[in-house]
Amino acid sequence: MTDHYRVVVIGGGIVGVSVLYHLARAGWTDIALIERAELTAGSTWHAAGGFHALNSDPNIAALQSYTIELYKQIEKESGQAVGLHSTGGVELACSPERWEWLKSEWALFQTLDIDARLMDVGEIEAMFPIVNLEGVEGGLFDPQEGHLDPHGATHAFAMAARKLGAKTILRNRVTDLTQMPDKRWRISTEKGDMTAEHVINAAGLWARRVGHMAGIDLPLVPMEHHFLVTDSIPELAVLEKEMPSVTDLDGFTYLQQEGTGVILGVYERNPVHWRPQGAAWDFGMDLLPEVIDRIEDELLIGFERFPVLQKTGIKRWVNGAFTFTPDGNPLIGPVPGLQNYWAACGCMAGFSQGGAIGLALANWMTEGDPGFDVFGMDVARFGSYACNDKYLADTTRQFYARRFSMAYPNEELPAGRPLKTSPCYDVLKSEGAHFGEVWGMETPLFFVPDDPDFAEIPSLRRSNAHPFVAQEVNATRSHAGLFETGIYARYEVSGPGAEKWLDHMLSSRLPAVGRIRLAPMLNPAGKLMGDLTVTRLADDRFWLVGSYFLQEWHLRWFREHLPKTGVRIENLSESWLGFSLSGPRSRDILAALTGADVSNSALPFLSCQNMNVGMTQAVVARISLTGEMGYEISVPAIQQRSLWFALCKAGEPFGLRQIGLRALDSLRFEKAYGSWGTEFAQSYTPGMSGLDHFVAFDKGDFIGRDAAAREQESGASQKLVLLEIEATDADAAGYEPIWSAGHRVGFVSSGGYGHHVGMSLALAYVDREVAEPETPLNVHIVGEERAARVLEHAPYDPAGKKLRA
Ligand SMILES: Cc1cc2nc3c(=O)[nH]c(=O)nc-3n(C[C@H](O)[C@H](O)[C@H](O)COP(=O)(O)OP(=O)(O)OC[C@H]3O[C@@H](n4cnc5c(N)ncnc54)[C@H](O)[C@@H]3O)c2cc1C
Repeated sequence: MTDHYRVVVIGGGIVGVSVLYHLARAGWTDIALIERAELTAGSTWHAAGGFHALNSDPNIAALQSYTIELYKQIEKESGQAVGLHSTGGVELACSPERWEWLKSEWALFQTLDIDARLMDVGEIEAMFPIVNLEGVEGGLFDPQEGHLDPHGATHAFAMAARKLGAKTILRNRVTDLTQMPDKRWRISTEKGDMTAEHVINAAGLWARRVGHMAGIDLPLVPMEHHFLVTDSIPELAVLEKEMPSVTDLDGFTYLQQEGTGVILGVYERNPVHWRPQGAAWDFGMDLLPEVIDRIEDELLIGFERFPVLQKTGIKRWVNGAFTFTPDGNPLIGPVPGLQNYWAACGCMAGFSQGGAIGLALANWMTEGDPGFDVFGMDVARFGSYACNDKYLADTTRQFYARRFSMAYPNEELPAGRPLKTSPCYDVLKSEGAHFGEVWGMETPLFFVPDDPDFAEIPSLRRSNAHPFVAQEVNATRSHAGLFETGIYARYEVSGPGAEKWLDHMLSSRLPAVGRIRLAPMLNPAGKLMGDLTVTRLADDRFWLVGSYFLQEWHLRWFREHLPKTGVRIENLSESWLGFSLSGPRSRDILAALTGADVSNSALPFLSCQNMNVGMTQAVVARISLTGEMGYEISVPAIQQRSLWFALCKAGEPFGLRQIGLRALDSLRFEKAYGSWGTEFAQSYTPGMSGLDHFVAFDKGDFIGRDAAAREQESGASQKLVLLEIEATDADAAGYEPIWSAGHRVGFVSSGGYGHHVGMSLALAYVDREVAEPETPLNVHIVGEERAARVLEHAPYDPAGKKLRA
């Protein structure tokens, strides 16, 4: 008889065993892990075993902190030593810019309760006797940093899982996967078949191949990584306590004590890929030959920073491979397009993230929700475009080479671009557009009309693009602005069951034909799954508009809930494009291009009509994110260019100006409008975000209703507010901590400069006790505490008269 399991985990590296353990801990014990060779036989066995809590994505930093805290518990539960060395560790700042950057990072970690602290040079000298302090300005100390024994940690998870009833099957390779008509998986192995309700791809270096078995491609690729291990160092041998780890961010190296010697690892600036489609099936527990020439430059810097290495013997070199994704974060969750096939792969920092991946995946499978905002790791954050070999090679190389580089909020990176361009890309470029990239799509950030050589300088402070953004904001407020809407996703939902289905999926009431509504979408726990706008084009035909970068994520959610018949969903995000035209002269411009009546009575706020605009057949929605009277004009993509030329010509006498995403942000802050990914995300609720105004609690049942109703009764503990900050040359960017009388009371979700109102503004989640208007608060901006106050109203047109004009 064929063995059957509820879940089969493929791969016995640190990630697979953590998933197994967390599932067993959640009560799913009829589960097995199958491993091709021995536990640890992929990347895991040769890892340096270092871990740290710090991560530039604060949600992931919190999950890393969970992983680290778990090790002691796992050791206890399993009885297997994990060789934990909780040494702490410091990141060095070796330039004034880096020091400012680290101070700013430190402020963000306070938002997460991560107990990092700044260190001055004297303290570094005392704690790190082998560091050359030349050029060192200071450091950021992470007490949670340390290292462990990769073999012990992997076996500890496996043993703890086995104690709870899970099985581990070794020396047996999965050779194929077939989904049967009843949706169970047949798992073919070297030693026969087994079946399972769910399979989890935790195959590390082989994960792409295991994906191919189910007909999918995953955006991950193995890359090489070197470290060296030294002989004993007398300066360390005499220490009473192990020296904490050191990362020389500007030198691309990390160092941790290993016995009385050290490990020195290198994040090389010229990294190389290894077996892009995955390791060979018979690849053993082998190392790759070291290529010292390639890492010579970084080693020289390392030997300067740690001069004792110049006189210490090298005991061994390690060059191994581990997997990278375009943004360096793992791929976890249900794989879109498949049923009961889960990803737990693409993990480049298994000892910092493995525990959290297991927890999130186990929550997701057993309770239907990962329990935290894991979008930064979700396999559905990428589309199929990211699996292209060249795209993957370029973006992963960029990530690896910049692993320790300073990242700036206004920085746009070049790899994998341009990939997706609208028909208007080149004309917008000729108008001076500077583009950013959203999910592979080039989107204008701002326009510099008369200076082809202009380049924005990455900065934590207001950049040299600030004056251009100001011009765009002011032109929109006084005349009209034209924004390309390529960053919106659009889905058509139609069929006899469309109304009933959408009524269940969305928490708002559905609009009448020809009308539009803002429609929060919730999960059963009452957390936000979308801030969609829904337009009713006919009784049985709707458009949903959301964020372009959420397409795969939203479609997965829709398909998970789609009835077998009666509802059709079509993704129009790339086949319909358009522009948002807004500002006091926008109606004049539209009227010049159409015979339709566009007066306020014929086309009021939140209504929608099909009409000719210039030569195009457009859908015109009276809606805008700028706070001005405005229209979103959508046309078949092939007509977008014609629309643009018509709008520009008609707009010229009315002072129309091209505007980009930065101006849109400034305009929305002045109106206190939130945006997905900052104010609205999986971790927030309608009550917190203010989206409860759009929830129709009395309309009958919908997903998340009970949880949202409970929150209405008890009141949300945190509220979204708009702050004015006393800032001079820098604005809040996101996740900065907010203080009241020395207590942390919240954090910024996003911020920027309101160019028209002349204020530094930030949207922020704060404890409800301090959410009252005029409450004085303090906010960290680039590491410095600044005074702020809660605003009672949006500073621009609080009554919304202009929007409805
Ligand atoms: C030199 C080096 C140093 C590193 N140092 C650190 C560090 O200090 N800290 C840190 O956090 N990370 C470090 N890493 C990265 C770390 O090793 C990885 O993040 C981690 O090991 C990934 O674990 P995994 O479980 O995802 O994959 P893997 O360890 O690759 O495990 C996948 C497993 O799946 C099995 N498998 C694959 N296909 C099949 C199949 N068809 N059937 C059955 N079994 C299959 C494989 O045999 C393998 O055991 C380092 C990596 C390298 C190369």
